[in-house]
Amino acid sequence: MELALDLHSHSVFAGGTQSLKISPETISSNRKKALEHLTKITETMPLKGIDVIGTGDSQFTQWTEILKSELTEEKSGIYIFQGSSTPAFMLQTELIFTAPIGKRSKIVHVVFLFPDFSTIDSLNDLLEKWEVKQKKMARPFIKCGDPGEVGKRINSILDIDSLIDAIPAHIMTPQGVFGSNIRINKLDKFFGTASPRLKIFETGLSADPVFLGLIPELDDKILISNSDAHSSSLHRMGREFTVISCHDRTYSSILDSLRKGKIVFTAEFPPEEGRFFLTGHRGGRKKPGLHHENEYCFFSPQHVPDNDRCPICHKSLTIGVFQRCVEIGRAQGAHRNLIDVKPKQHFIHMVPLIDILSHILIIKTKTSKSIISHYQKIVEILGPESHLWQISSAEIRSKLEGVISEPILSAILEVKAGNFTFKPYGYDGEYGSLEIGQRGNYKDVKVINSSRSNKALTEFLK
Ligand SMILES: [Zn+2]
Ligand SMILES: [Zn+2]
Repeated sequence: MELALDLHSHSVFAGGTQSLKISPETISSNRKKALEHLTKITETMPLKGIDVIGTGDSQFTQWTEILKSELTEEKSGIYIFQGSSTPAFMLQTELIFTAPIGKRSKIVHVVFLFPDFSTIDSLNDLLEKWEVKQKKMARPFIKCGDPGEVGKRINSILDIDSLIDAIPAHIMTPQGVFGSNIRINKLDKFFGTASPRLKIFETGLSADPVFLGLIPELDDKILISNSDAHSSSLHRMGREFTVISCHDRTYSSILDSLRKGKIVFTAEFPPEEGRFFLTGHRGGRKKPGLHHENEYCFFSPQHVPDNDRCPICHKSLTIGVFQRCVEIGRAQGAHRNLIDVKPKQHFIHMVPLIDILSHILIIKTKTSKSIISHYQKIVEILGPESHLWQISSAEIRSKLEGVISEPILSAILEVKAGNFTFKPYGYDGEYGSLEIGQRGNYKDVKVINSSRSNKALTEFLK
């Protein structure tokens, strides 16, 4: 059977859009919000076409208790909510490891999957032993003395049970292992002796199997995609996902398929939309000492200024995923070219349907009633959103013609045909801004707006 997985999400207890205050007085109101979150996920996932979702934050006590009391185990390691068979839940959490590298501390996010609640209790015993303040945080920080200790601790968690797996999260973003925040070029420089045990890696929103194909060390790794959603909104959950083939819907069968690389395809955000794609500095940065006002700059690797210095404020630029992939590949002795990379896994680029609708209807609020009602109409006819990227354009046209407006239909078909780009591309924490109907060339971008007019961007937009 085939299953669509989104194995990295967060509960209402993690930071982000819905973060809650954790105190004895808020327990009952938090519980109510957490239950609403479970209900919303259960309504949303069938529309998205995601079969199995990671619970997020499963070691965080308040959330663990809710999961234990509200979910029922359908099959080994697979849980359902209120009798609804879709989605199924797998116990998952994200741990944040920190270790000094040189004078600064590197922060790296790692997703963990657990086969049952007793393994989570064992993890919590370890966190207690290591004096991690997990009770206060849904995503605990595990402070290590050096990368050797990171490796030992990951090994200790994996040693709890052979069905626990560790998946380095969004590996190219600043808080991923290969990200720009303290640049390392080999996995063992952070993961120490745990490196050989790490087999499954998350591409993250700003990278896809082609970009990661520039890095030799990832050649024998399995790449998966997840939403890393911090809310249950339609445009966040399942915005990236992985379709696997597996024997049945049990935890061990799913994990076995992942470990053996039985990936049918991953559905990827176009990397150039991701928040850290190009190298640059955005306008209006709040960091002290970065005197930018509304000026900004962004570059593809071949145009990045010497020493990675910003031509406007002269501080270090935020290094983008594109540049990182190129420089890691070179540091590992490869001189691969994007055009020549043959991704070893099948994948598709997609744009969340909600984002397409928001663009065409010119409505910024992605939870607006008008967007949602168009969304529901399309899904009612075509089936879950994930199908949109698997069925033919001719089928879509024949089913939607006359039912939805022509601009919406043609936008969907243009995106399917790859006729879209982002203006500008994502950089320095900003998502790329969608343009439908043309293709872009992110390999040759050099924009410096130091005149405070919008001239540079206007030229780029032509
Ligand atoms: Zn993360
Ligand atoms: Zn700057």
